[in-house]
Amino acid sequence: MMQTSSPTPVQHIITPETRAAGIQLYIKRDDLIHPFVSGNKWRKLKYNLQEAGNLNKDTLLTFGGAFSNHIYSTAAAAAMHGFRSVGIIRGEETLPLNPTLSFARNAGMQIHYMDRSRYREKDSPELIRQLREEHGDFYLIPEGGSGLLAVKGVRELVAEISFPFDYICTPVGTGGTMAGLIAGAPPAAQVLGFAALRAENYLEEEVRNLLSQNNSTNLPGWHICHDYHFGGYARIDKKLASFIASFESSFAIPLDPVYTSKMFFGLLDLISKGYFEKGKTIIALHTGGLQGKAGMQPKIEKLLAGSA
Ligand SMILES: *Cc1c(COP(=O)(O)O)cnc(C)c1O
Repeated sequence: MMQTSSPTPVQHIITPETRAAGIQLYIKRDDLIHPFVSGNKWRKLKYNLQEAGNLNKDTLLTFGGAFSNHIYSTAAAAAMHGFRSVGIIRGEETLPLNPTLSFARNAGMQIHYMDRSRYREKDSPELIRQLREEHGDFYLIPEGGSGLLAVKGVRELVAEISFPFDYICTPVGTGGTMAGLIAGAPPAAQVLGFAALRAENYLEEEVRNLLSQNNSTNLPGWHICHDYHFGGYARIDKKLASFIASFESSFAIPLDPVYTSKMFFGLLDLISKGYFEKGKTIIALHTGGLQGKAGMQPKIEKLLAGSA
């Protein structure tokens, strides 16, 4: 299967917040898992590629936004494993192609755009049937790669952590990674998600749906925190931009502006507010996703310049 540097390292970091609260914080560096199939997307694709092979499919079809880490990763993974790939991109074509889509196209992905109202139907059998008429038989990977096989791939990463912990944290987009951590974490641990987008309750529902086919009855407790989305998906402000810059200069660990920065900001904020009891051990999953940063860098720099 996909070549990998898994198991990925687990790195201890000390911040003013962890020191003051007496918390041990470790980062599971899934951002280092593969140069092109990053972090949780590698975990989520692994068994999907295997299944596509088992079913003798030669084409993968999936959905995503124009800056999607999932589109980027699927294009790379498909090319490495000899699959054709089709990416259905939400919205209109914008030229020149952004770095995510030009990478995907160079990797051989066929890019098709879908208007937003039709895109909303992406899970409907009728739309899938139409897509099969247009693109032939394909192996369907849902948006964000989330599904039962994603849960199976993500849960494996927990077993790579060789010491006991009390909490394991992840950013949340579609909920697939969260569901995988819940499926894989020991029952005494807690799984804490940080929503990267504005969502009332549907992320919890997604997680529950993904877990409902899991027949384990003894799952750990879990909670999704909705206080750190910074106004919505891919929204960033001066505070978050400065946080990224200072985190990167302190620890030499890159953060992406859409997911991991919001989790670390939220996690350190909760630690400083006394959310975690003294002596607890926390694992934060670095889900990768750094490819999209190039496209947002001008905005980040503008925000930082404004903070002088
Ligand atoms: C896609 C992605 C997420 C969200 O994962 P879900 O399983 O969709 O919740 C989190 N972090 C990064 C870096 C991602 O690319």
